[in-house]
Parts: sequence; structure tokens; C-alpha cells
Amino acid sequence: MKKRLVILTVLAGFFFASCGSQPAKEEEPAKQSETPAQEQVAQPEKTEEKAPDFGEKGNAFYKHCADEFAAVKAIIADIKANPEGRKNIEKLQLFNNFEIKIEDAWGKIEIYEMNHPDEGMRNAAMAAESELMAILSEITLDADLYKVMAAIPADDPEFDAEDKRFLADVIDDFKRSGVDKDEKTREEIKKVNAELVAISQQFNANIASDRKSIKVAPERLKGLPEDFINGHAKDENGMITLTTDYPDYFPVMESADDETLRKEMYFLAQNVAYPSNEEVFDKLLKGRKKLANLLGYKNWPEYSEAKLMIGNPENAENFVKKIAAISMPYAKKEAEILLAKKKQLTGKDDVEVEPWDRFYIPRLVRMEKFSYDPEAVRPYFEIQKVLNGIFTVNSKIFGLEFKQIKRDDVWHESILSYDVYSNGEKIGTFDLDLYPRENKYKHFAMFTNEQGIKGRLPRMAIVGNFPTPVNGKAYVGHDSVQTLFHEFGHLIHGILASGHKYIRFAGTNCQRDFVETPSQFMEEYVWDASILQLWATNDAGEPIPAELVEKMRKSDEFGKGLHTSRQLYLAILSLEVYLQDPDAEGFNHHAFEKKTEREYSPWKTYEETHQIENFGHLDGYSSNYYTYMWSLSIAKDFYGYIMQNGGLMNTDVMGKYRDQVLKAGGAKDGMQMVRDFLGRELSFEAFEKWLNQ
Ligand SMILES: [Zn+2]
Repeated sequence: MKKRLVILTVLAGFFFASCGSQPAKEEEPAKQSETPAQEQVAQPEKTEEKAPDFGEKGNAFYKHCADEFAAVKAIIADIKANPEGRKNIEKLQLFNNFEIKIEDAWGKIEIYEMNHPDEGMRNAAMAAESELMAILSEITLDADLYKVMAAIPADDPEFDAEDKRFLADVIDDFKRSGVDKDEKTREEIKKVNAELVAISQQFNANIASDRKSIKVAPERLKGLPEDFINGHAKDENGMITLTTDYPDYFPVMESADDETLRKEMYFLAQNVAYPSNEEVFDKLLKGRKKLANLLGYKNWPEYSEAKLMIGNPENAENFVKKIAAISMPYAKKEAEILLAKKKQLTGKDDVEVEPWDRFYIPRLVRMEKFSYDPEAVRPYFEIQKVLNGIFTVNSKIFGLEFKQIKRDDVWHESILSYDVYSNGEKIGTFDLDLYPRENKYKHFAMFTNEQGIKGRLPRMAIVGNFPTPVNGKAYVGHDSVQTLFHEFGHLIHGILASGHKYIRFAGTNCQRDFVETPSQFMEEYVWDASILQLWATNDAGEPIPAELVEKMRKSDEFGKGLHTSRQLYLAILSLEVYLQDPDAEGFNHHAFEKKTEREYSPWKTYEETHQIENFGHLDGYSSNYYTYMWSLSIAKDFYGYIMQNGGLMNTDVMGKYRDQVLKAGGAKDGMQMVRDFLGRELSFEAFEKWLNQ
């Protein structure tokens, strides 16, 4: 999921979320490109009056956005000007019209800013984004607009259930923005909001710009693949430079036999944006606490979690600590296996497993224990076959049809476009931008181009970075297959939830801690041999052997305890650090990090590392990094239920899932979707069972 625009609370607690289905790497320190600088909300430029020049395409797009924003202002003025003269249902519709214009502009801004090959277009999108934020900032705290909306009676006889939910949600968002506070408080809120935008930008920019590096002699790269070594030119002294960026960091941590090299890289990466972010993070904590207090909340998590499924920090704390306790014994068991392996490797008895062994030793154990070579599955995963596999699965379970089309209004000529049909009727369309190129987003994400609402079809997009096909073919690893299924889970959610009147309930606009449920659930389809065999064949047409899938599954199981424990440690850190009082005398976030790390991290703690400074999600997810595990626990509950009721390919149970969960979009709370689908409350039994496997 790409960052989501929460229209009325956009400045008072917006989320940026980029996702991939590889959370193992998601929280890694060297995540420079995951939060590109241009992804930040730029502050409105106030000095320049004359229209900037973005080139022909850029100017046209900028003008389009400017016209849309002018229309938004006109709608807002209209709502305020004539409160008596129109029916309440019309006021809701007008408000919806304003949100449609904002979301439509936002969808294109986001895609173009991050992916458009034309520099003028990217700049135009950035400039338009600044203006959009400025307009929303005004609307959020517009007391006159609020007065009109708040005067609408909730029980107007013309309202249906969705109208009522919409009105309540709008009023709630207004209040959460602080619109009903006195003028002095509102002014202060505006000020803190503006400061927070700048602080967040700084926090991310410091991470993005601090790329640390070391020079090493080539002989220290033993264990790394040849193409990695060949890809690094030697300098005049015969040395090779390694950086903390993903493409260097992970191969070294996974494969370098030289332990001291891994150790050096670990300390480098764990100190990215240190000390530059030391003070910035304190400002972020203080600013968010202040904002929460101004809005009438005790602390930031209380404010930011109030509209989420989890509801409040106590629930979040119970959840993460409970799951941490369950996963810890497994993490310990795995750690013992790693220790035995390390003793064997070093021939010493007095060694410890270190955090810089975290990727290296598990890889060796997996190869040895399960004789599984990840390369062995690659011939079955040619990219076009993977796509056909996704279409096959989704047509079988949801009765959908996919037809490739040609469209001219795509942002790059390599993009593939498809229409989606259900019972012969077209229900949406999407674009796939799958291969890397310069100035394009570096990870995998689903973007909403246009939300589907009643009377208008949705248009979604998946942006990815698969290897560019050679002679029309590109073979990918199983993790890439999983990622594409994950993103497609978001995409189908976006397409199916498009029958609502109100755009704020459309597509993936559900509660933020539910949104990773459909995507993580879709990953289940890549682990079942009989489902894989429907589409995964090699060039000779032979389906992937069931034994190979079994090895792949078993190998994947190893390390789950340690991985889950680490994710939970990060979730606990993110929550707890925001529960601290940053203004208290003697508060020191580094000391707090170390204390939490000693207590919850499955890996050894070192004073000299600074996780908080480079943990970018502490800005975007803020206190709510628990979200992934929470959404996963729901996905596992759904999976358990589906397996008991006919299985992943059963059209009855999957039809129910489509209708009760996916189609609901944001029109139901997450918990309501759980109850409607399962006929009971959410249970963690399936998640625990999965952890205990
Ligand atoms: Zn996702």
C-alpha cells in the first residue's frame, strides 16, 4: 500500500506507508530509497507568485491540478454560503465531491511524482502536492465549514446507513483535527502541524542522505556471488567501496564469510542518520505529544490509535506483548541452532550469535537442514507465468476475468494495462509498471490512480522492479512471486470495493491497521503445491514438483520465531517510545531504546548502535508499527476459517470473503468485517497456531 491520504486529518496525523511483503527487510536501517525525499509533503511555497515552468506535459498537469483545486475551493465556499437553501443529503454529496476531486488529484500526483519519466511532470506533481496540502490544512481547521456540517442532523430521514456513517466520520475527523477548539488553540495546532511537516521531512531526509560506506580489500568479499563482486569496481588502490544501501548491505550480511566485515557493516548501518537525527527525533516526539495534548489526548498513541481497530495503546501493548511472549520460545530454539552452527563454523566453543550473524547463519542452516536452494524454483517463475497465475487464481476464486488492453494515457510505454470483468461486466482497470528504470520508485507498491465509486470504475496500478526481461522472459525468485501476489491482494481489494457512494469508503480506504489483511492473505496462494501447479511450469511445460514446494515451505519456516520476535521488538519500541514523556527531566531516547532492546530484542544489544535515528517507520507508522503483525493475525484467522470451510480454492467461502470483506472497503469497521465473515469475534488462535508450527 502506498501512503494513504486521510483527507481531514491529513496534517494532524497522516500516514505514510509503503509496503512490500518482505518485512524481514522492511525495518532495516539502510532504507534510503524506501522513503524517497520527494515522498515527503513539501511545504507550500509562499514567495513565488508567477507560475513555474514544468515543460509542456508538466505545465498541462499542473494546470489540471490548479483547476481542480480551484473547483475544490468553490465547492467549499458553496457549502458554506448556502446552508439553509439545500437538503442535507445534498450537503453530503457536495462534501463528497470535494473529496473526490482531492483524491483524484492525489492519486495522479503520487504516481507521477514517483514514477513519471518526464522530470517536468515529477516536479509539477511535487508542486501540486504542496498546494494540495496547503488547501487541506485550511479546510481541516475551517470552523465555518465545520459549523455547516455539524448542524446536519444524524437522523435525517433521507439518510441511509452509508450516509449516516459518512456524516459521523466527517464530523469525527473534523474534531480530531481540532476544528472545534477555540481560536487560539486552533492557531497553535496550525503552527504545530506546520512544524511537524518540516520535522518529518528532516527526519526522512537525514536517513535518505546519510549513506555510509567502507573501503574493503576484494579478498574480504569471500562468499559473495561473483556478479556482486564484478559489479563493484576497484579504485586506484585496488579497494572496493561498500555502502549501507540495500543492494550492498543485504548481500554482505547474507553471504560474506568474513565476520568482521559483517560486523563493520552492521555498526555502520545501525548508525545511519546518527547523530543528525538525534535532536530531530526528540523534536518529533515533543511535537506529536504537544499536538495530541492540544487535541485533548494524553499522548500521541492515544490520539493516533483512536480510529484504528486496535483502539488505544493499552490494546496495542497487550497485543504486541502477548505475541512476543508466544514467539520468544521459538526464537530461542532457533537461536540455539544458530549457536551450534556458529560453534561448528568457528571451531570455538566460547562464541555467541551476534546481530551481524542474523542473515548469514540462518541461510547456511537452511541450505544444510532442508537442502533447499532458492535458485531451484526460479525456472518455474517466469514473470508472464506469474501474472497468468495471479489471474488464474483470482478468476477461479472470485469469478473475475482479465483482458489485456492498450491505452494511451499511461506514464511509460512499457506499462501493461488490463480490464477486469465480473459476470461479463467490466468492473475496473489497472496498469502494471513492472520493470526498473531511472527516476522510478525503487520498491513494490500498489497505487490507486482513481478510486471506484458508484457510477465510476476504479483504476489501480502496481509498480515494481522485476528484472527486465531478456528475449521476452524474466525469471524471478519465490519472494518476488510472493510480493506480486501481495500487491495484487491490495489491487483486487481496490477494484472490488468500488460500489460505494462516498470516496472515503472506496477501495483500500479502510482502517489503516486492517489494510494489510487482504494483501497478506493473498500470499497464502504461493505456498500450496496444488495451486502453484496450476500455473508454475518450467520452459518444458513441467509443473513445479510438490517435493520442491515442500522443501521451500520447510526452509521458510526456519527463522520465523526470530523474525517475528524482532518485528515485535520493533513494534514495542515504536509504541513505547511514543508513550514516554519526552519533556520529562532526564528522558533520553537512546537509553530507552537500549532498555527496550535488552528486554525484547532476540538479538544482543550494543550501546553503540542507534536504531531510532534510522528507523524511518517511526515517522510514517509513528507508534503503530504493530499494524503489520495485527493485519497478519487477522489474515491468519481468515485463512484458518477458509481452510475449515472448503479451502483456498473453494468458491463459496471465497465468494463470502469477497462480498463481506473485500467489497466493504471502508464502509465497515475492520472488526465488523471480521464478524460478518467469520460469524464470531477475532481470534488469535490461528495466528498462534501458525507461530507454533
Ligand atoms: Zn502491503
